[in-house]
Amino acid sequence: MSLPARLIEGYEAFRTGRLPNEQSRYRDLAERGQSPQIMVIGCCDSRVSPEVIFDAGPGELFVVRNVANLVPPFSPDGMYHGVSAALEYAVQVLRVRHIVVLGHGRCGGIRAFVEQAEPLSPGDFIGKWMSMIAPAAAAIGTPSDGPGSYFTRLEHAAMATTLENLMTFPCVRILSERGRLTLHAAYFDVASGELTVRDPVTGLFGSVIKHAIRAAP
Ligand SMILES: [Zn+2]
Repeated sequence: MSLPARLIEGYEAFRTGRLPNEQSRYRDLAERGQSPQIMVIGCCDSRVSPEVIFDAGPGELFVVRNVANLVPPFSPDGMYHGVSAALEYAVQVLRVRHIVVLGHGRCGGIRAFVEQAEPLSPGDFIGKWMSMIAPAAAAIGTPSDGPGSYFTRLEHAAMATTLENLMTFPCVRILSERGRLTLHAAYFDVASGELTVRDPVTGLFGSVIKHAIRAAP
């Protein structure tokens, strides 16, 4: 049983192209371990790869991806919590300085919630998972309650909920209050490739380029 040909070809391209250029970096990372400064919480969507969007090399981003880039609230209930485990490791062991929630347009998870899609299996894992954004949906009202695309508004609101949920983790809250950890939300428009970032004061999303210029000394 072989890997799909696409992956074998891709690995061959990596092995002969990128790997020789980054061999020393890989060796260094192998010896010293990883120490990324940034955690990204992204969507599983194949069009929204954080490493591609941020042009990141090995060891730079600690990434966890799930349907619709959500983080459940802190709930130490003895169940299996994959996102919480990754978060715990990133914050308490790697000591990342930034957590970026990376949302995107045309998110299938958000669409499934809006359209109240039928369960795909008896477990209805997507339905249960996406029910997490019900408060965000309630907060923005109906599709006719605001300007622009309802989907975009809901995608933005879901990210705000995720930021709130992140703060329910004591380790995140404490380090954030001490100024040692900063939370961000960024939104990738799949069609245009534009990245916008959420203003923590207004909650509005604006061009990342404008923010970068404003942030410059
Ligand atoms: Zn998505």
